Amino acid sequence: MGELQSRELTTLSVMGLPVHIGDQYADWLLLRQSQGLGAQVVTLNAEMAMLADRTPELKAMIQQADLVIPDGAGIVLYFRLKGKRIQRCPGIELAEAVLQSLRMDQSVVFFGGAPGVAAAASAAWQQRNPQLQVTGLQHGFVTPDEEAAFQTHLQSTQPTVILLALGVPRQEFWMQAHQHLCPQAIWIGVGGSFDIWAGRKERAPAWFCNNNLEWLYRLYQEPWRWRRMLALPKFALRALTYSGS
Ligand code: UDP
Repeated sequence: MGELQSRELTTLSVMGLPVHIGDQYADWLLLRQSQGLGAQVVTLNAEMAMLADRTPELKAMIQQADLVIPDGAGIVLYFRLKGKRIQRCPGIELAEAVLQSLRMDQSVVFFGGAPGVAAAASAAWQQRNPQLQVTGLQHGFVTPDEEAAFQTHLQSTQPTVILLALGVPRQEFWMQAHQHLCPQAIWIGVGGSFDIWAGRKERAPAWFCNNNLEWLYRLYQEPWRWRRMLALPKFALRALTYSGS
C-alpha cells in the first residue's frame, strides 16, 4: 500500500470531469491490479468532454472511472490557460506502456475494430513483446450471439487487461456495463489504436504529437473528421466559461 500511495495521482477538474495527473500511469495501474483492484480507464479529449456535457450517462461514467488521463491537446491547453502545466498522455501510449510491461503470467484481450483488425494488432504486438499472452480477440461489429459468447469467455479467462477499441462512447459504456465480469482487470478504451498497431492507419509524426498538433495531422489523414473537430473550439469556449459542478 505504501508504494501505491507514493504513486498517488493528483485530480484536476474540467467541466465537472476529473483528470488524473501523474507520470507513471501504467505502473500505477499494474500495481493496483497486483493488489486485486481493477480499473476503468478513460482517455479524455475535447470531443469526449463535449459529448459528456450533453450526455449525462457518459458524464457519470467518466466521473466514476478510476483513471482519466489527459489524452487530448485541448485538455492540456485548457489547463495551461488556467496556469497549470500538465503533460499530455495519449491513450495509445498508455496502452503501449501497459502491454510492454505485462509478464508471462498476465494476459490481454483485444476487443474492437473492423473484422481482422484486432487480430492484426495482436500479431504486431506479439512481435514487439514475444512473451505477451493474448487470451482473447474479438472484432467490434459483433452479433448478439457473438457478444454473449465473448462475455462468457471474458468471465472464464479473467484477463489482466481488456483493451476496447469501439470508439467513444460505445467503449466507455461497454466497459461500465461489463466490468462486473472481470472486476480485477484493467479496462482501457483505446479508440482507433488497433487500426494504428495493425498498420491500417498512421500516427502523426512525433513533431505533431510534441506540439499538441496530432489532431491537425489526423484531420489531414481523415478530412471527414472536420465536423467532429469543431468540438475543439467549442470545448475551449465551454470549458473556460463553465461554472457547473
Ligand atoms: N468500431 C467498432 N465497432 C463499432 C464502431 C466502431 O469496433 O461498432 C471501431 C472502428 O473500427 C475503429 C474504432 O472503433 O477501429 C474507433 O476509432 P476512432 O478512431 O473513431 O476512435 P475515437 O475517435 O472514437 O476514439
